[in-house]
Amino acid sequence: MQTLVHYSFHFIFPLFIALLFFRDQWKKAWLIMLLTMLVDLDHLFVRPVFDPARCSIGFHYLHSIPAIALYVIFLFNKRTRIAAVGLLFHMLTDLIDCFWTFSHCQSCMLHSKLYAIYVNVMHLFK
Ligand SMILES: [Zn+2]
Repeated sequence: MQTLVHYSFHFIFPLFIALLFFRDQWKKAWLIMLLTMLVDLDHLFVRPVFDPARCSIGFHYLHSIPAIALYVIFLFNKRTRIAAVGLLFHMLTDLIDCFWTFSHCQSCMLHSKLYAIYVNVMHLFK
């Protein structure tokens, strides 16, 4: 179920975003956003490649905080904007997935990179 929702988010929501925000070039926008799924190729650098209990945000190279910061910068350039929207939406989808997993697996949360980042950030504000 979770996997189904996840992949429909990855495929169908970019279509809505393309139609809503890039109406005059929605096919191109949708295609570019689908291509941003290639960032999941960074999963190939780790074993196991697919682990439903793992939160990808902060874990894989292209899902790291510096990478996400870079995608935000891409938003400000007209030529990279569509890709940036696709990439950030991808990260959002993955993040929702993380929280969904955490909701029924506390040890998944405690062992995630995302949680480690959260703890570090909280330390900065102490
Ligand atoms: Zn991903």
